[in-house]
Amino acid sequence: MMAESAAMPVRATKRGSERTPLSGEHDVLICGASFAGLTVARELAGSGADVLVVDRYEIGERQTSACGIPTEWLARLGLMDAERQRFDTLVMHTPHGTSRYRLPWTFSTFDYREICQLLWRDCDARFETAKVHGRTAEANGNGKIAVETDRGVISAPLVVDALGWRRMLATGYGYQPPDAPLSRGLEVHPGGTSEDLAIWIDRKYVPAGYGWSFPARDELRIGIGSFDPRFHVKDTTVELTRDLGKEPNEYQGNWIPHKLRTATEGGVFFVGDSAGHCLPLSAEGIRTALYFGIALGRELRGVVEGRQTREEAAESYAEFHDSHEWKFKWMLRVQKLIPRVPPRLLAPAIRLMSSKRFVDWSFRHYLRIAPPEFAGAGLPGGSADDQDGAGQQQGDAEDALGAERDLVQAEQA
Ligand SMILES: Cc1cc2nc3c(=O)[nH]c(=O)nc-3n(C[C@H](O)[C@H](O)[C@H](O)COP(=O)(O)OP(=O)(O)OC[C@H]3O[C@@H](n4cnc5c(N)ncnc54)[C@H](O)[C@@H]3O)c2cc1C
Repeated sequence: MMAESAAMPVRATKRGSERTPLSGEHDVLICGASFAGLTVARELAGSGADVLVVDRYEIGERQTSACGIPTEWLARLGLMDAERQRFDTLVMHTPHGTSRYRLPWTFSTFDYREICQLLWRDCDARFETAKVHGRTAEANGNGKIAVETDRGVISAPLVVDALGWRRMLATGYGYQPPDAPLSRGLEVHPGGTSEDLAIWIDRKYVPAGYGWSFPARDELRIGIGSFDPRFHVKDTTVELTRDLGKEPNEYQGNWIPHKLRTATEGGVFFVGDSAGHCLPLSAEGIRTALYFGIALGRELRGVVEGRQTREEAAESYAEFHDSHEWKFKWMLRVQKLIPRVPPRLLAPAIRLMSSKRFVDWSFRHYLRIAPPEFAGAGLPGGSADDQDGAGQQQGDAEDALGAERDLVQAEQA
């Protein structure tokens, strides 16, 4: 964790005598109860599986992001109640001027605690707070995988690591910043309102990366993301915040992976940041955590319902994950290119990119990396009314997975 956070809040978790020993076997153990972990659990609801979800904090307790997502993802998952503000335009500030891009789809900010509670509402799993230490050799027979936590050893034949960039359940080399392919992000949340979803591409704030202000009804989520993990973003987060006439408060930050890692390892399934599912360049990792979380949940459901083995699920999930690799690599290439563009070329390049045709084309392709239709039609109470087009495409889970595979293959061809 970054040493930059000032006064860190006390997080809700079980303490002292409440931390009774926890052990036993379950059908599925999901480690990490944020976007990725909760989505996997949600896909398993109604399957009859005994699913345990663990996290070091209570559900929804620790926000680490600006919580911005394409609106249609919220709508299709029935999560519109968590929406805070919606935008149809992106404002880009550079030292050479400001451009406004009208987006072909809308983007929303949401409340972290609320979205986690909504995802959890749709699960029928059990939850416990426990700090995961890693895998242990114990109980590794009979295809069971054992995980050591501060409350005891828990085992299951199906284990998911949705623990974020640390990828605690991997057996091999662990990533360590600043040498690993990780970006760093820090933000503050001063009160205030704005109509502008804004980003700053300005080397005065960060040599490689961008600054942002994501309004969320009554607060502004202002931060800096650096593709270079060695660049400390605290000073310039403060600078950008003050440039916007606000005082920094409530620091929150994290490392952000910008490279895919393997989807499975030693029988464990990885999803979200632990699998490197955050998109390079934009550092958008929530939509992809939901997307790959759904894909993984569907595969695991196939196992608990006896339609496939764990090995078959692993193969299928890894194939799906790998089919996206070229898109992630392409975005990483652009991420690496940006710091090399001479400042005098940046302004004309940004002007060129602001044609409506280019914006529509590029943003549509960008959305297709993890398209909202993959989530299906949405749940009752989701909101076809709130978002035109959402909820129209029906189709069962496996059809959607197959359709997405076809799409990826077609785009590769
Ligand atoms: C400042 C900042 C702003 C961002 N803004 C956006 C944005 O606006 N939109 C967007 O799409 N992406 C954004 N991202 C990226 C996004 O936050 C991540 O990609 C996303 O959170 C990944 O979800 P996840 O569920 O995989 O992991 P996480 O959200 O990191 O969740 C991991 C979970 O595991 C738990 N955990 C970790 N270690 C342990 C352990 N040892 N034992 C038990 N539990 C553990 C944590 O408590 C947490 O609940 C931002 C990132 C940063 C740093």
